[in-house]
Parts: sequence; structure tokens; C-alpha cells
Amino acid sequence: MINIPKGTKDVLPSQSHKWQFIENTARSVAKIFNLKELRTPTFEHTELFLRGVGETTDVVNKEMYTFEDKGGRSITLKPEGTAGAARLFIENGLYSGALPLKTYYITPCFRYERPQAGRLREFHQFGIEIFGSPAPETDAEVIFAASTFLNKLGVKNTELRLNSIGCRDCRKAYNQALREYFKPNLDKMCATCRTRFDKNPLRMLDCKEENCKKITSGAPKILDYLCPDCAAHFEKVKTLLSAQGVRYTVDPEIVRGLDYYTKTVFEFVSTDIGAQGTVCGGGRYDNLLEELGAASLPAIGFAAGIERLILLMDNTGVQFPEPDRPKIYLAGMDEPSRELAFKLCGGLRAHGINAECDLMGRSVKAQFKYADKIGARYAAAIGANEAESGVVNIKEMSTGESSAVKINEIYEYLIKR
Ligand code: ATP
Ligand code: MG
Repeated sequence: MINIPKGTKDVLPSQSHKWQFIENTARSVAKIFNLKELRTPTFEHTELFLRGVGETTDVVNKEMYTFEDKGGRSITLKPEGTAGAARLFIENGLYSGALPLKTYYITPCFRYERPQAGRLREFHQFGIEIFGSPAPETDAEVIFAASTFLNKLGVKNTELRLNSIGCRDCRKAYNQALREYFKPNLDKMCATCRTRFDKNPLRMLDCKEENCKKITSGAPKILDYLCPDCAAHFEKVKTLLSAQGVRYTVDPEIVRGLDYYTKTVFEFVSTDIGAQGTVCGGGRYDNLLEELGAASLPAIGFAAGIERLILLMDNTGVQFPEPDRPKIYLAGMDEPSRELAFKLCGGLRAHGINAECDLMGRSVKAQFKYADKIGARYAAAIGANEAESGVVNIKEMSTGESSAVKINEIYEYLIKR
């Protein structure tokens, strides 16, 4: 027997309605926020993520699925959606179109991680990216879209944690303050943090090692180092969010795991599920396009993990809409009636009705049992008598009540219920 690869998951037919609900909700949010879908390949040149996501991040250092293809190119399965979306924007010259360009995607992502609940090697994200606007209104809009999405799903008990990590200017002063703070403690920190000390001390704040966490908790806070422009931007984002009734907590510890972020960063964290409680994360990335070698253009986005949302919703008893089930099951008693049931089914389906009949050559009793198992709302048995009289008894499965209905009026009967 060949098993599923570690860290991946099947979606069973009995569970797919949950995925469809989340995806449909994502698309309905995209619709009211006027976001247009973009799709990028599952794999990209490795270089895109080295430059885009950043060489000091865990994603690039430890988690990428990178391989050489038969043509000797270094290829990487996308670990996230933003770098590919930015590449699409640049490569297709979308600078010259209407700006801001508001986009979304639903995509698989791949990260070589230690699998656990809510942490997989292949997972899926719903993400939003808005290109071209430096204005704080855009930050507030993106966050409001994320919050609308979570509300529409019925997800409860999430907290919005908000921070600003400033621009290149504020970062310079802040990095210096961080180095001064970490220097005397450096020998107590992990090897990764020690390499980050020179390259990107901000990344040290994102370290998950217990020892490092203890030390980083006393580090200087970025909010004390924001330049006047970044500080004003952050204030405006907060004002706009409050005006929309979006509640948030300012959390100076949030720096996010990817290097491209600037100014506003945020996470929606569940207070109900533990370690993997971050269901959605995002922020502004005003330098990414420039770092990819293109003209500078501000942008902002978020991504929400679909598996984590399902886990959270299942664990907190959020009801998913019921999966589709057949409106009617038509059982045939003999060969001519089975043919009639088959034909009637076809006619109902042509009218958009979920109708079923026997595909197993079963007895009428076994057919009714199957109809019950698959949750058919109504069932009717057709035999020689029914074929001759042109009338069937349609039974409502939940109550056992039945009504005599003319065969050529089954559609009219069902459509009213
Ligand atoms: P974490 O701190 O949990 O590792 P992250 O900062 O690496 O998260 P992002 O890169 O911001 O996560 O991805 C956005 C969202 O995608 C996360 O909030 C989460 O819901 C989901 N996600 C990230 N990594 C995984 C994974 N390995 N398995 C399942 N979902 C994931
Ligand atoms: Mg991660």
C-alpha cells in the first residue's frame, strides 16, 4: 500500500463542502471589495523567493521545496503567494493599468515543516494583494477585508494584533538599537539568531527558541523608533479601523516571518486553538517590487490558511452549511420502470434538480435504504402500476408522509419544496 506523503492531507468527499464554503466565502468577500482573481504557477524560479521572501527567513532557510529540473534550473514550489503575485504584476507590465490593482488568490503552498495539527507541508491560502497605493486607507481596507472574511465564516474569538515595523529609515535606527541590546546576550542565543544579528536583527524577534524568546522579550520596541511619517501612517490606520468598528490590540512583538514587510503588519490569532492559532497574517510590503528589480511601487496584502480555519471552526463548533443532497430518489421496480426512472432523473437534472436513481441493480428495498443513506429528501418507487396510471407516491423521507403526484408534474411538485 502506498501512503500519502507526510504533512499532506486528503480532502474526503464528506468534507469537501467545508472547503467549498470557505472558498465561496473568500470569493464573495473578493466580490464586494472588487478584488480580481490572479493565478500563478505552482513553481517558480528559486531566485524569486530568495529575493522576495528573504534569505534570513525560516521559509527560505529551512522550509523550501527546491529541486533542479531536467534542464538544470533551480525550481521551488511556492511557499507563499505574494512573491509570485508581485512577479506577475511586474512581468505583465500592470504598472500602466488602473492603480491600485486589487487582487486575490486561492492557492496551495509548500513548506518543509515539522507536521502537526494546523501545520502541514502542503497547505492552502486565500490571499489578497493590493498594488500601487501608499495610503493608510488601503491598510485599513485590507484588514477590514480579512475581518469581513472571518466574520462571514462565523469564526469567533479571534484577536487582531497590529504593529508597524516602519520603513528602511526607521529600521536603520532600530537595527542599531537591537544590535546594542543583543550584543551582550548573543552567546546565549541560538546559532540562527547569531547569524541574523549581522544580517537582519529584526528577524531575531521572530525566533521560536525558548531561550531566545526570553531575551527578545526585553528588546527595544520598534514603535519607539518609527519616523514621523511611519508614525502618522500607523495612527491613521488605527483611526480608520476604529471608525469601522474593527477592534485590535497593538502588539509590538509582531514582526512577521517574511522579510518584505514594511510599516503595517498584522495577524488574526485565535484564542481558542493553541500553538497554530494564527489563522491570517499580512502587512504592507512597499519595497518588494523594487527588491525584485522592478520600479518601486507600494503594496499590501494578507494570507489566511484554509486548513487552520477548518481546524478552528471544527474545534469551536462553528456550523458549516449542510452539504448538497439529492432532492429525490426514483426507484425502479422492474426493467421498464428502471428505464422510466432513469429518464425522469435526466429530465429533473436538466431543470437543475439534484435527482438520483439506481446504478447498482438493487432491489427496491435496498434502493430506499441507499436513498436514506445519501440523505435524499424525497423518494418514489415506480413500477408497472405507476407507469400505467401516470401517478407516483412521493414520500418525504424525514416524515414518512407521501403524496400522489402525476409523473409529468414531479418537477412542479419538487420545485415548491
Ligand atoms: P507560523 O508563524 O504559524 O509559522 P507564518 O508566519 O509562517 O505562520 P505566513 O507565512 O504568514 O505564516 O502564512 C499565512 C498563513 O498561512 C498563516 O497565518 C497560517 O494560517 C497559514 N500557514 C502558514 N504556514 C502553514 C503551514 N505549514 N501549514 C498550514 N497553514 C500554514
Ligand atoms: Mg511559518
